[in-house]
Amino acid sequence: MPELPEVETVVRGLRPHLEGRSLARVTVRRRDLRTAFPRDLATRLTGRRIEWLARRAKYILVALDDGNVLVVHLGMSGRMLVASPAAAAAPHDHVEFETDQGVRIVYNDPRRFGLMTLVDQRRLERHRLFRGLGPEPLGNVFNAVALSAALRHKRTPIKSALLDQRVVAGLGNIYVCEALFRAGISPRRLAASVAGVRAERLVPAIRAVLEEAIAAGGSSLKDYRQSTGELGYFQHRFAVYDRAGSPCPGCTCKVAVRRIVQAGRSTFYCAHRQR
Ligand SMILES: [Zn+2]
Repeated sequence: MPELPEVETVVRGLRPHLEGRSLARVTVRRRDLRTAFPRDLATRLTGRRIEWLARRAKYILVALDDGNVLVVHLGMSGRMLVASPAAAAAPHDHVEFETDQGVRIVYNDPRRFGLMTLVDQRRLERHRLFRGLGPEPLGNVFNAVALSAALRHKRTPIKSALLDQRVVAGLGNIYVCEALFRAGISPRRLAASVAGVRAERLVPAIRAVLEEAIAAGGSSLKDYRQSTGELGYFQHRFAVYDRAGSPCPGCTCKVAVRRIVQAGRSTFYCAHRQR
């Protein structure tokens, strides 16, 4: 599943091809992904100029010159690729965009859990997809004070609290595990007890694991073509995620990385280093 660093990587990869360009041709080959496409999606996009691209949580935002934003979510298996101009459509290429420069961007999604919709830019923050979202983990609003305030009354394990999109937006299972390891905080610790000094360690840890993954070109558990069209998404190396039974990096404790299940999701951590 594409995580925040992958989505950020896709946005950065697409930006030079799309920002300031017009959509000369748009082909929509289905009526829906996870939800129905807006009626006349291809018609509404064709001829529009793209003003900017951004990411909010795990959504790709493409701002158009008619005041709408094309919102794209990659779901479980969605990809946005820069395809070669001559290539024929591949299986699961559901939507295709061609710019006035002849660049072809393809939305490919075998499992079709993705989403693509148009939202009035003025109403974007109040839209149901966005109104409940907490601050961006890489943004200025997210700091130890804000995180402490969000955690202070939470009676859940910190692991679950960080997956709550109202606390911080866009963090998934992998990077929550990695950030808690980096900060030396047990995933089982009560969220309320992380407010304060531990939040001061946790915020930079969250930023660091995300920024390192973005720098590495994102990461994924599956083969994943980057938005530049290259094959084989960079396989990021995790400290604890999916490493049950292995020593944690730099570990002197002889306690292997442990896997437990919290709220139905796997958690990986070092019981010695994380308290
Ligand atoms: Zn260890």
